[in-house]
Amino acid sequence: MAAAELLAYRDAVADCTKCALAQGRTQVVFGAGSPTADLMFVGEAPGFHEDKQGVPFVGAAGQLLSKLLEGIGLTRDAVYIANVLMCRPPGNRDPQPEEIQACEPHLWRKIELIQPKLICTLGNFATKLLSGKPTGITQVHGRPQDVVLGGNPVTLYPIFHPAAALYTPRMLQVLQEDFARIPDLLGKTLEPPPLAPEPVAFVQPEQLGLF
Ligand code: URA
Repeated sequence: MAAAELLAYRDAVADCTKCALAQGRTQVVFGAGSPTADLMFVGEAPGFHEDKQGVPFVGAAGQLLSKLLEGIGLTRDAVYIANVLMCRPPGNRDPQPEEIQACEPHLWRKIELIQPKLICTLGNFATKLLSGKPTGITQVHGRPQDVVLGGNPVTLYPIFHPAAALYTPRMLQVLQEDFARIPDLLGKTLEPPPLAPEPVAFVQPEQLGLF
């Protein structure tokens, strides 16, 4: 059901012209992975290789993402990977506010259809857009936040963008440490609801010793 709707949506936006990036792209990079994934990653925008292949995170940053996934026992097929923007900005420049605004309904729709339990935002652009807050990744990385997105409760987990970690060993170390917490966070969100009929008090992630 979600798979068919996601495919239909992909077809519907394949010729999107909602922003000027449509003119320079090879193709729309919609997203890839399992349409029923519990874990979703949201990056920034397609780069050169993604634009050519039509698949997110296939360049150097993507290879690091795949390795990090492997390190926690997951494959790309088991998760869903998307970006804030579906089209490549020229020269890989930062996404512009009007491009983000034009593309964000596509991302919300994907989240609505996939209904992930955990969304890892990679870097500043995805983190700011999905948290709705201006706080940058350096402050919020590794801090899970329980929010409602696309009408569903979801844990937002901001982490550094793999591209930033590629050439900065300290950042790579932090990214690996933050990544190592993903299985726990997935376990937490995947726990079956308690049988008790009364509402369960919300427990701050800090109290669970996740920091
Ligand atoms: N960087 C991103 O943010 N997304 C990609 O798809 C590739 C590199």
